[in-house]
Amino acid sequence: MKNLFHADKNGYYGEFGGAFIPEMLYPNVEELRKKYIETMQEVSFQKEFQQLLKDYVGRPSPLYFAKRLSEKYQVKIYLKREDLNHTGAHKINNTIGQILLAKRLKKKRIIAETGAGQHGVATATVCALMGMKCVIFMGEIDIARQAPNVARMKMLGAEVIPAKSGSKTLKDATNEAIRDWINNPEDTFYIIGSVVGPHPYPDMVARFQSIISEEIKRQLVIKEGTENPDYIIACVGGGSNAAGAFFHYLEDKNVKLIAVEAAGKGINSGESAATSILGEEGVIHGSKTLLMQTDDGQITEPYSISAGLDYPGVGPQHAHLFTSGRAKFLNATDDEAMQAGLELCKLEGIIPAIESAHALAALDKMEFNKEDIVVVNLSGRGDKDLDTYIKYFKFD
Ligand SMILES: *Cc1c(COP(=O)(O)O)cnc(C)c1O
Repeated sequence: MKNLFHADKNGYYGEFGGAFIPEMLYPNVEELRKKYIETMQEVSFQKEFQQLLKDYVGRPSPLYFAKRLSEKYQVKIYLKREDLNHTGAHKINNTIGQILLAKRLKKKRIIAETGAGQHGVATATVCALMGMKCVIFMGEIDIARQAPNVARMKMLGAEVIPAKSGSKTLKDATNEAIRDWINNPEDTFYIIGSVVGPHPYPDMVARFQSIISEEIKRQLVIKEGTENPDYIIACVGGGSNAAGAFFHYLEDKNVKLIAVEAAGKGINSGESAATSILGEEGVIHGSKTLLMQTDDGQITEPYSISAGLDYPGVGPQHAHLFTSGRAKFLNATDDEAMQAGLELCKLEGIIPAIESAHALAALDKMEFNKEDIVVVNLSGRGDKDLDTYIKYFKFD
C-alpha cells in the first residue's frame, strides 16, 4: 500500500504523530511498538479476533439502505450499523483487539481512562470476557454525571478510581492512568479508546477499527456492484470510528471522506470541540496533533452536548487528513445534531447516539447528485443519551 495517509515507521502522518512520552514510559511503549504488527498478523490472533467479532460483537454489522432518509436528501444513503454491536458502539472492536494483544504480551492487569464512560464500559466488558483485572480511571466530576456507566463498569467487575486533580475530567483521568502505567510496567496493559496517544496507539486502534471499511467494501459490492461509495461521513471525537470507516479508502481519491466535528454552541462561541478548525499544532497525550489551546499553549476546555465528541484534540491521522485536504472537515452544532438525531428516529425508526447524529447533520450541509452513494457511519445507539434527548426536546 502507498503510504500517504497511514503511519510511517515512527508513527508520523505527515508532520503529525510520533511518541512524545516521559522517559519512564519508554519501555512500555517500546515493547508495544516492537510487537504490535507482528502479533496482530499471527494466524492464531486473527482467528480469535475474527471469531469474537462474529460471535460476541455480532459482526458483520449491517450496511442498511435508509430509504426514507434517502428520499429526503435525494441521494442514496447507507447506514453502517455500528450501533448494533454488543455494548452499542464501535468501541468494542478496538477493546477486543487490544485485550487479545495484552494476553499475548502476558499482561495480567488492564487499565484505561474514560470520560463519559463508554470506553470504560467497553474495556470492562472485554476484561470480564477474558477474566482479567480491570482498573478504570475516571474524573470525579464525570463519575457524578455518568452514574449509569459507572454502575455498568462495577457490575462488569471493574474497579473505578476517581481522578481528583485538575478539572476532574478526562484529561486528569488520563494523567492518572499514565502514572499507574509507569508504576506497573511489567504486568499492566493500557487500553486507549481512540486513535490518540503515542505511536503505536493511533495506528493500532485504526487497524482494529478498519474492520468497518473492510466490511463496507464487501457489502457495497453486493448492494451496488461497486466497492466504493462517493462519500463516507463519520463523526470525529478522537477519531476512531472515522479512522475505521476511512481506512481502506484512504488512497482512493474518488471516495470523498467527510469528517464531522462538534461545533457545540457555535464555532466562534468559545464552547465547541471543532478541533481541526480551531486548533493549532501542539502535543497532547503523547502525540503531535492539532488541538485547541490558548496563545500560551494551555489546552482549552472543549464543549459539546455529546460527551464522546468532547475532546480538545484529534488523532494525528485526522490532523494530517485535514491539513492535506484528503478529508473534508465539517461541523455540526448541538442544535443541528439533536434535530438530525430526531429526524433519524422519525424517518427510519433508529435512535442514534448523539455523536453519530453529528455525522447525520452533515447531510443537510452537502450538495449531492441523485445517483451518489453516501455511507454514514452510525457509530453508536442512543440509549445512553436518552436523558439528554428528553431534556432537550422536553419529552417528559
Ligand atoms: C466514543 C464515541 C465516539 C467518538 O469517538 P471516536 O474515537 O471519534 O470514534 C463516537 N460515537 C460514539 C457512539 C462513541 O461512543
